[in-house]
Amino acid sequence: MIIDCHCHAGKGDGLTGPWDTSARLEKYLHRASRAGITKTVLFAAFHSDYSAANREVARIVASRPDRFYGFAFVNPERDRGRIFAMIREAVEDMGFCGIKVHRHDGRITREVCEAARAFSLPVLYDVMGEVSIVELLAVEYRDVSFIIPHMGSFSDDWRAQSALIDHLARHPNVFTDTSGVRRFDLLEEAARRAGAKKILFGTDGPWLHPGVELAKIRALGLAKQEEQLVTGGNFLRLISKAGSRSSRLQAPGSRLQTPPFQIEPTDPWSSEQFPV
Ligand SMILES: [Zn+2]
Repeated sequence: MIIDCHCHAGKGDGLTGPWDTSARLEKYLHRASRAGITKTVLFAAFHSDYSAANREVARIVASRPDRFYGFAFVNPERDRGRIFAMIREAVEDMGFCGIKVHRHDGRITREVCEAARAFSLPVLYDVMGEVSIVELLAVEYRDVSFIIPHMGSFSDDWRAQSALIDHLARHPNVFTDTSGVRRFDLLEEAARRAGAKKILFGTDGPWLHPGVELAKIRALGLAKQEEQLVTGGNFLRLISKAGSRSSRLQAPGSRLQTPPFQIEPTDPWSSEQFPV
């Protein structure tokens, strides 16, 4: 089983570029299945209303719960004061198992980290090169797992990516994903110093080709067991307790394995939902 831990889905409501306009899955799904990717974590594109965007992602996840996981996107600034409620809805009504935050929207806050802690969810936080914050996150929230995508910089900031390796190696709760990372030496260095247990395969689909991204993992030449950690094992470990704390508090016995999908599924292949 190969799990892509980083893919966008649904419509954005901006018109700046693909990242806030539309994340259509048709081509991605075709490419991913040809590459042997069997499961994918979905979260929204940039949006001015993540409650609405998360619900759209939930409908796509609910259309193929065997194929998709969902992460809840929140804006730490605009959603201030309602993060906990949004995350509770995402976990309990949508079956989501993680949180996505992007510094483009706003810097991560204690409110986000505490919601992650309350629901035992990993946080995928794009720091946009601001790697120093990872030191604070890792120490203040030891019991929360942080996935810092693109090794800290989608725009190939070598200084940031290089600096992240130190955090990966030192902090047990800091992870990275491989999506969009071009400087292969840095990936190798991360695997060597921090170990395969700290690296998750991700694609940043549908905008990057999942087959190309997976080829980078193969090129690392890891031992089979280590490669399996990168391509799924690590992710499954990070979400293994997702929602458990709130479930114990509010609905004994109900766990994410039987997510209460209360939403009408959307067919991700439907051209009505994803107009050309
Ligand atoms: Zn992304």
